[in-house]
Amino acid sequence: MKLIDNIKQSLFGGDRAAAGLNLQCQKCNGIFDCDVGKITFPADSDRPAFEKEIICPKCGALSMDDILLTETGQSQLTQAHLSAMD
Ligand SMILES: [Zn+2]
Repeated sequence: MKLIDNIKQSLFGGDRAAAGLNLQCQKCNGIFDCDVGKITFPADSDRPAFEKEIICPKCGALSMDDILLTETGQSQLTQAHLSAMD
């Protein structure tokens, strides 16, 4: 089973954390799956919050300003948002 299928399963399966969010690093432009832990959506922010640090395999720890969501990552977040609301 591919990682993405695992993520979809865990997202659809309830409140379990995503196994890996698909992100692009703005420093090296590398795309990687990052284990961000539980994804939450703070009411006072337009950005999601991650339980764990974002780590680029090449650059190390990144801030939210250093990353872009890939299309896959965006749909993963949308699913996480939907499952967080119900
Ligand atoms: Zn990087």
